[in-house]
Amino acid sequence: MTFDAATKMQFLYALRSKGVTDARVLTAMEQVDRADYVKGTFADRAYDDMPLPIACGQTISQPSVVGLMTQALQVEARDKVLEIGTGSGYQAAILSRLARRVYTVDRYRKLVHAARAVFEMRDFSNITTFTADGSHGFEEQAPFDRILLTAAAEDPPGPLLAQLRVGGIMVLPVGQSDAVQSLIRVTRLENGYDYDELRSVRFVPLLEGLGQE
Ligand code: SAH
Repeated sequence: MTFDAATKMQFLYALRSKGVTDARVLTAMEQVDRADYVKGTFADRAYDDMPLPIACGQTISQPSVVGLMTQALQVEARDKVLEIGTGSGYQAAILSRLARRVYTVDRYRKLVHAARAVFEMRDFSNITTFTADGSHGFEEQAPFDRILLTAAAEDPPGPLLAQLRVGGIMVLPVGQSDAVQSLIRVTRLENGYDYDELRSVRFVPLLEGLGQE
């Protein structure tokens, strides 16, 4: 499926009108083709501002929410970023245009393999993918400058708070999995954490252990 320039213009316009105004984030979203991450029946909806089903019963997030979360994360060019919840790989691809290095983890091997294939095809060589329960973070590469969760936790997971460097930022949806959640931003200070509530969102839950597929 290929999309024309007018469709992509309209996509960027929709993002702006929903509050995605950061020029670097918009450029990254212009560079990453969402059609690479949406397969099958829904391929023709890749440039609609809506979440769509992907394999393993998961979803690719709504582009404007991806944009707002990326913007809230305030990624800088030298940053090492950890994303929990690779899903389709779309969010990781956008982060990779903004950061030095992106580590992305999902509990479904099948999703990780599909995302890795797209990253290779597009030469997004600063992304490292792996299959694990991401709620434990990635100790070997800690601390991270930025951490993004794209699945909802009841509370910010302790290991992730611990793996954020001082001055680092983590963005995540928190709340009960079957309800509307709050998107929050956590900033690690010298002696504690600062919490900021951003907006309401709806994400699939952060689950324990590995998935079956
Ligand atoms: N960021 C994705 C959308 C994520 S959907 C995108 O751009 O397409 C949420 C993802 O979180 C799902 O793929 C789900 O499998 C994953 N997930 C849920 N709990 C997890 C955990 N504990 N560790 C790693 N991934 C998890």
